[in-house]
Amino acid sequence: MSDTMTKDGLLVKYGLPAEVKFCKKCVLSNQRPQPKPEIKYTPNTPQETTFFDEEGVCSACRYAEMKDSSIDWGKREKGLIDLLDRYRSGDGRYDCVVPGSGGKDSGFASHILKNKYGMHPLTVTWAPHIYSDIGWKNFQSWIHSGFDNILITPNGKVHSLLTKLAFVNLLHPFQPFVFGQRFAGLRIAMKFNIPLIFHGESPFEYGCSSLKETEESGFRKKYFCSESSDPASIYLGGVSVKDLVKEHGLDMNDLAMYMPLTDKELGSFPMEYKFLGYYIKWDPQEAYYYAVENTGFEGNVERTEGTYSKYASIDDKTDPFHYYTSYIKFGLGRATMDAAQEIRNHKINREEGVALVRKYDHEFPSKFYGEFLHYMGISEEMFLERIDSARSPHLWVEDRGTWKLRHAVFY
Ligand SMILES: [Zn+2]
Repeated sequence: MSDTMTKDGLLVKYGLPAEVKFCKKCVLSNQRPQPKPEIKYTPNTPQETTFFDEEGVCSACRYAEMKDSSIDWGKREKGLIDLLDRYRSGDGRYDCVVPGSGGKDSGFASHILKNKYGMHPLTVTWAPHIYSDIGWKNFQSWIHSGFDNILITPNGKVHSLLTKLAFVNLLHPFQPFVFGQRFAGLRIAMKFNIPLIFHGESPFEYGCSSLKETEESGFRKKYFCSESSDPASIYLGGVSVKDLVKEHGLDMNDLAMYMPLTDKELGSFPMEYKFLGYYIKWDPQEAYYYAVENTGFEGNVERTEGTYSKYASIDDKTDPFHYYTSYIKFGLGRATMDAAQEIRNHKINREEGVALVRKYDHEFPSKFYGEFLHYMGISEEMFLERIDSARSPHLWVEDRGTWKLRHAVFY
């Protein structure tokens, strides 16, 4: 990837748009990566970002408008019922897979599929790096509210090594988790021969421009398959699989859960990969209330560092670093993500959202910092060096030892 420059000659990293723009309706900027990127198994591919239209509004806000006005939800629900009628089992077999952690979204999705629509879901969980106490408690409550579950806990030695490499090479410590999670539900579905897979929220909620392709075959190929199965061209944590084997003492079995499928493997499986949020109008706060009521879900007693919310993504102690590294690379922290979503769902207005971003977006997640460093096996010195060298000059400026964003939604 050749780096570009801004008009003022500032370097632009990661293939991001050189000119920073903020959405007129929410607090998101055009530096936000696509929420469900295609599989890019090389470290040099430019980042695809959220689409902004000519009126300066992001695609997630446009989708929120459609949810409120033009989508016929009655028709969509009928489509859901037709689909479920085709798959519902009457003989004790599982008839759908719901991947998730037992958080509010998978709690809501699995419970409503089972109790309102009479399905028989098998839930599948790809374990967090380090369970938080509340995350483990919520996971247990979910199962005890009436679900069979397969928990896949990856090889800890391999997972922490890949996480470290992804942090050091890409400043994306969550990449191995994301890949493992992406494939876990599908791999179990294939093993049990359950073609119907349900996620909760649709990626369109967060500005995925290729969602319409979920209804087409193109999406599944982009999402689950790699063009090549050559270990020299597939990268994990910024290192080719070939080098992971050669230089880090791993073998192909160690990496199997992170690897994309081949066209051939997936091609013969009649997968129906669906988002419940496509069929019924999704509201994260309502999903939260529903999960509290029905699957024993509990929010945290205190707000999550870097934001003001208490109930989203709280099951993994390392999760705050996923958002913090996003803040460093794209200038968008966790409060931005929460506020943008709440503006779209009419929980707060834009002015309140801007104030929340100003107050919390920059906050460093110190609570599990030591555990995160220990998990990856790196020093604090190395952590800080990687953080600072990942800052793109078009987003950040250093002023007497303090880093400052050049562009923020609040100035
Ligand atoms: Zn927006």
